[in-house]
Amino acid sequence: EQNLHQVKENIAAACRRSGRNPDEVRIVAVTKYVDLETTRRALDAGLTHIGESRAQEAVPKWEQLGDRGIWHFIGHLQSNKAKAVAGRFTYVHSLDRFSLAKELNRRSEAAGRPTRCFVQVNVSGEASKHGLDPVEVKEFVEQAAEFPYLQLEGLMTMAPFTEDPEEARPVFRRLKELQRELQQSGASGTALPHLSMGMSRDYQVAVEEGATFVRLGSVLVGEAYPKQR
Ligand SMILES: *Cc1c(COP(=O)(O)O)cnc(C)c1O
Repeated sequence: EQNLHQVKENIAAACRRSGRNPDEVRIVAVTKYVDLETTRRALDAGLTHIGESRAQEAVPKWEQLGDRGIWHFIGHLQSNKAKAVAGRFTYVHSLDRFSLAKELNRRSEAAGRPTRCFVQVNVSGEASKHGLDPVEVKEFVEQAAEFPYLQLEGLMTMAPFTEDPEEARPVFRRLKELQRELQQSGASGTALPHLSMGMSRDYQVAVEEGATFVRLGSVLVGEAYPKQR
C-alpha cells in the first residue's frame, strides 16, 4: 500500500509536469516476481490490473484470482501458448507477428471472448528486444485489424535498460509519434488510443511522454526499489 501510494504521487507529479490528467494513466501491477499471496495482496490494496509474463506461472494464479481484476499478458508470447492466454487474459501487450495474431484470434474465438491487444514495437532497435520495426507497424496493424477476435488497443514498447531514465525518453517520444502518424493515416485499425510504456525505472518519464498504461513490478510488489523517490 505504501508503494502504491508513492507510485500514485509520482504519476500525479509527472502528469502535472506534462499537463495530463492522472485518470488517463492505469497501473498494471506486474506480479511475475511474486507468489499467489502477494498477488492477492496487490488486489486487496486496490490494484485492479494484474500483469504476468509467463503462461506456466500465470495460469495457476489466474485460476485462483482470475475473477478479481483484469489480467494482462505482458511477456513474449509463443503461439503455442495462445490457447492458455485467450479467454483468461483481457489484454496481451506483446502482439508482434502475424502468426501470433492469427493463432490468438483463433483461440479467442474458441474461448468466446475477444482479446485486447497492444502491438509491440522495438523502437530502440536492440537485437535482444522483441517487437516490430517501427516501419512495419502500419501494415501489420492493417492486417491484424482484419481479425474479429482481436481488439487493437494501442502500441507497447520497452525502453533500453539504463541507469538514467532520461535515456528512455526518446524511445517513449518516438512511440507517441508513431501513434500519431498511424492515427493520422486513417488506415484500418489505427485508432490505437493507448500506449503501454514505462516500467519501474522509467515510468515517470513514460507518463510525461504520454503513457496510458504503465507496467510496474519492482516498485510496487517487489522489494522497495532503490531509485524510488
Ligand atoms: C517484468 C516486466 C515489467 C516490470 O518490470 P519492473 O522493472 O520490475 O517494473 C514490465 N514490462 C514487462 C514486459 C516485463 O516483462
